[in-house]
Amino acid sequence: MDVYVDKHKCTGCQHCKDVCPVAVFEMKGRGTPENPDAEGANGDTAPEESKWKGQIDPAMHEKWANVQDNHKHFAQDNDGTSGGLSVAVNGSACILCQACLIECEGECIHITDDNGTRYDSIYK
Ligand code: SF4
Ligand code: SF4
Repeated sequence: MDVYVDKHKCTGCQHCKDVCPVAVFEMKGRGTPENPDAEGANGDTAPEESKWKGQIDPAMHEKWANVQDNHKHFAQDNDGTSGGLSVAVNGSACILCQACLIECEGECIHITDDNGTRYDSIYK
């Protein structure tokens, strides 16, 4: 199983980490403008176009930046409940329960199973 996060769309809500039963996700900081990956934000298998380069998707920012739901959105660092970016550090452990796929508000989690079938998150 392969799991990655489309970084520029990740709000940092931490829903994925909270619901995953097998600890696929870790939250990392957004680094610095000079080195966005300073804290390991690109530590999963995201392809080049989905790597964190320090640029937040404008439409995603407009949609979530001011939503008050007790989760930080687009915060630089994680405070234990939200903030930073999600990284699928342990994708091979995924059991395809699909919990993260319906909880990801950024619709930015992508999973490919061992047969090559792809699953994309759709926020419910
Ligand atoms: S689909 Fe995989 S990565 Fe997502 S919550 Fe379930 S086990 Fe974790
Ligand atoms: S649920 Fe989606 S938007 Fe929220 S932290 Fe995880 S990957 Fe990012």
